[in-house]
Amino acid sequence: MAAKAGARPSPAGGEEQNWPAGFWNSQEEPKEACGVFGILAPGEEVARLAYFGLFALQHRGQESAGIATFEGAFCRVHKAMGLVSQVFDEVNLAQLSGDLAVGHTRYSTTGSSRAANAQPVIVESRLGPLALAHNGNLVNAEELRRELEAADRHLTGSTDSECIAHAIAQAVNQGQGWVEATCQALRRCRGAFSLVIGTPEGLIGARDPYGVRPLVLGFLSSNPTRQELLQPQMVGSPHCPEAPRLHYVLASETCALDIIGADYLRQVEPGELVWIDRQGLQSVRWAEANPKLCIFEMIYFARPDSCMHGESLYSYRVRLGEQLAREAPAEADWVIAVPDSGTPAAIGYARQTGIPYTEGLIKNRYVGRTFIQPTQSMRERGIRMKLNPLEDVLRGKRIVIVDDSIVRGTTSQKIVKALRQAGATEVHMRISSPPVTHPCFYGIDTDSQDQLIAARYSVAEIAEKIGVDSLAYLSWEGMLAATGQDPNSFCSACFTGHYPIPVPEGLKRSKLALETAASRKDR
Ligand code: SF4
Repeated sequence: MAAKAGARPSPAGGEEQNWPAGFWNSQEEPKEACGVFGILAPGEEVARLAYFGLFALQHRGQESAGIATFEGAFCRVHKAMGLVSQVFDEVNLAQLSGDLAVGHTRYSTTGSSRAANAQPVIVESRLGPLALAHNGNLVNAEELRRELEAADRHLTGSTDSECIAHAIAQAVNQGQGWVEATCQALRRCRGAFSLVIGTPEGLIGARDPYGVRPLVLGFLSSNPTRQELLQPQMVGSPHCPEAPRLHYVLASETCALDIIGADYLRQVEPGELVWIDRQGLQSVRWAEANPKLCIFEMIYFARPDSCMHGESLYSYRVRLGEQLAREAPAEADWVIAVPDSGTPAAIGYARQTGIPYTEGLIKNRYVGRTFIQPTQSMRERGIRMKLNPLEDVLRGKRIVIVDDSIVRGTTSQKIVKALRQAGATEVHMRISSPPVTHPCFYGIDTDSQDQLIAARYSVAEIAEKIGVDSLAYLSWEGMLAATGQDPNSFCSACFTGHYPIPVPEGLKRSKLALETAASRKDR
């Protein structure tokens, strides 16, 4: 996968380029779909706990945030566009009383970015309101919407999540209880969904049969000991008889448990639904499991301090770097990272090669928090909103720079140019995942195929375009082997084009314009 570049740009300038708007804000990076959170904890300030849970999940979506609470049959909700810290204050949190809360932080992958599409989605039913928070993407949303509208369901937003909420309410109105109605509705859904649903009677957590998006279960530490909770009856039916005081928490990632002092119990299994009420927890298998966890969650999207498969993702990402070093060593004076996403793999690469690791680019961590954007002329002068190179570290040195992925390539190109301007004599880029050649239909916004640089160009061509002395990607096999898990238990479709959940042709055509051309490329 390694390739030597041909001609490279002049270090000290040459022609300036007009970088796309928001370039240094990394708007080319793939965007997460959403973060979800739920808690049932009588006697606790559930809205405040949900707030902190969402705060920990902010990286999963920055467009809108919302929390719904239940006090018996009474549901209160506050949701708006913006970051968690912008949407909530002491006043509106104080109004969210109750003992059950559902929270959501959103990046739009279906439906436009507007307040009407903020979640949780609230829908009325025969048994009272439900509040639904969804992470993932349905691939049959249009079909489901048509069916619901034909049955006189009045949908007000434009998201697939609203379709799921209405499908549940429809089944409730046909006479079923919450659990049966949700199972029935989920069987109508195809695609990726990790759901947290609040109702007047209890809290639901559910995952699609593939478990594409993560969802974990925890409990507040005021509970009985973990060993007691792990007794088999907890995951059976009916309710665990000896656990009346349980304060369960559901979240996209374990980092949202850590922030509120909750203990991790287990993941919600693919094809599983958990029903949590004031009597305890009940597990229902609503579909046969066929695990296909999104490998990009492990490589990039989930926080490095979140745990999957019994270890932090930081540890997995360090191993990716070690594997990358075995597959594509380089001679250099320093290993540096594209912060922060490339840092663990850079540390692993350095550890394996023996080349010292250092910081070479400093990240402005507040860059996403300004609404004042540089003008085009400022960009043309090379304003560095996000990353600034350390010239005295880089000058006269041969550099290996490690990142977790290349999507469009424009950010990489800009970074390489900045390193050369800072005086680096050689720049070797190493990527701790394979080339991204296909778009995602399961809740990650990785652009249409014509925007993906690896779908259009070979590794050698990419190396030349971004101006590096050499470029190498981690192999697909190496990426999966480093998980230590069954390689068949992951979705890696954006690297292979093999989609584990069939994608309807119309949806595919919208993003796969280059499929034939891409298949001819040397990757
Ligand atoms: Fe994740 Fe890629 Fe599969 Fe989408 S296509 S779920 S980003 S591995």
